[in-house]
Amino acid sequence: MEKIVVLNSGGFDSIVLLHYYYYILGEKNLISLHFTHGEKNEREQLECAEKVCDKLNIPSKVIHLPSFDWTKGNFYNEKFIDAKSSYLEYRNLVFLAYGISFAQAIEASTVGLAILGGQESYIDCSPNFLYNVENISMMANIKIDTPFSCRSKESLGHIVKYLKIKRDEFFSCDHPINNKPCGECDDCKNIEKIYRNI
Ligand SMILES: [Zn+2]
Repeated sequence: MEKIVVLNSGGFDSIVLLHYYYYILGEKNLISLHFTHGEKNEREQLECAEKVCDKLNIPSKVIHLPSFDWTKGNFYNEKFIDAKSSYLEYRNLVFLAYGISFAQAIEASTVGLAILGGQESYIDCSPNFLYNVENISMMANIKIDTPFSCRSKESLGHIVKYLKIKRDEFFSCDHPINNKPCGECDDCKNIEKIYRNI
């Protein structure tokens, strides 16, 4: 049976992806891999990443990375809530490199990540990027799986409903206030819309 290393940020997309794999494969074939890198919602996302593993009985590994302090974007800047200015240069290449190395070490066949349709404008979410990373990972027979890559965030609502994923199981806010979602950023608004419609 194939074993999948799932990149789990603790955010909405990752938590839905873990539930999706769990529903298809069961907990024995999954391992969660979470990264901290000094992000604004680091503590909340780590808590959610660990909580879902406890709930689904999935083993979890956490890697503490330094922050991307060379970034030109506003990812770490408390004042900015605009997601488009928060790009971290080639973040997914860094995360996938660790994921592929970890997968090879534990003899996993696949690294799964929650890239959605519509994110292609980011280089490290584009089909061409994923194709080329997989060219490297396939040298060790490790696939890159992105089952949501043709789906919108809103379309994940039916999985949320069917698998009864609760709002406190993930943390997606880019601009938390007192450790709580701000309700104003794009992520908060999208999540609100999804739960309103299910
Ligand atoms: Zn927010």
